[in-house]
Amino acid sequence: MGDYIVKATAYEDNVLTFAALSKDTVNRAKEIHSLTPTACAALGRSLTAVAMMRTMMKGEKDKVTLVIKGDGPIGSIVVVSNFPGIVKGYVGNPFVDLPLSEKGKLDVGRAVGKKGYVTVIKDIGLKEPYIGTVEIQTGEIGDDIAYYFYTSEQIPSAVGLGVLVGKEGDVLTAGGFILQLLPGVKEEVILKLEKAIGQITSVTDLLRQGKTPEDILTSIFEEEEVKFLEKIPLKYECDCSQERFESAILALGKEEIQKLIKEEQGIETVCHFCGKKYFITRERLEELLKEAEN
Ligand code: ZN
Repeated sequence: MGDYIVKATAYEDNVLTFAALSKDTVNRAKEIHSLTPTACAALGRSLTAVAMMRTMMKGEKDKVTLVIKGDGPIGSIVVVSNFPGIVKGYVGNPFVDLPLSEKGKLDVGRAVGKKGYVTVIKDIGLKEPYIGTVEIQTGEIGDDIAYYFYTSEQIPSAVGLGVLVGKEGDVLTAGGFILQLLPGVKEEVILKLEKAIGQITSVTDLLRQGKTPEDILTSIFEEEEVKFLEKIPLKYECDCSQERFESAILALGKEEIQKLIKEEQGIETVCHFCGKKYFITRERLEELLKEAEN
């Protein structure tokens, strides 16, 4: 079974909800970045959340970026989704290695840190993107994103995210859910949901039992109350290219390019998201300079 996201409503459209299976996506991130288990859990949870957040957006060219910048040893976490079901990301320190928490879990909260900011940038093709920033709550990512939704978008939400890493460092399972109360939600629905969410021990446990994203939602809501709307395949993919790298150089302007030609034999860069290397020769820089001058 490949990764995917399901989108649904529940309780007569009082609740909008999403669930994802993201095992292969998180495993790909682990391979690209050589993530330690703790870094893998932190980036994996973030990738899963952002993938679901992108499916909340309507335009084909909409983009969503999540930046978590805490005071913990992992540094910044950056995740981007430019298209529904396509996600990419990186962390400042992929080698962060911490002992398990008191509960015997990967200590994502300590890796991220308890002080710092969660920023969500939503670009929906307007002149300025929408940017919301909130303080980190626990560094466990799910709580922090729920707090972002509530504080910055005024949407009461519950977010559950989980990544299970095996002894060899491979991703055994990953996934999550988001549920959001829509305006005018009935009090009785809120009470039912609070009870149901309280009963879920962890997303990781559900996934480990072989539950699908659909099963996750039907275990939160009463089955007959869920209306599935859409199923979107999910994968890790980077959209970088030589062209993009060159247009970034072009955007520096002619003086900067002249400086590069004078000082360097050429320039090399490595994509943060996928590790691919790009090179621009001195001759190519001269061509770009001509373009910049026009
Ligand atoms: Zn790339």
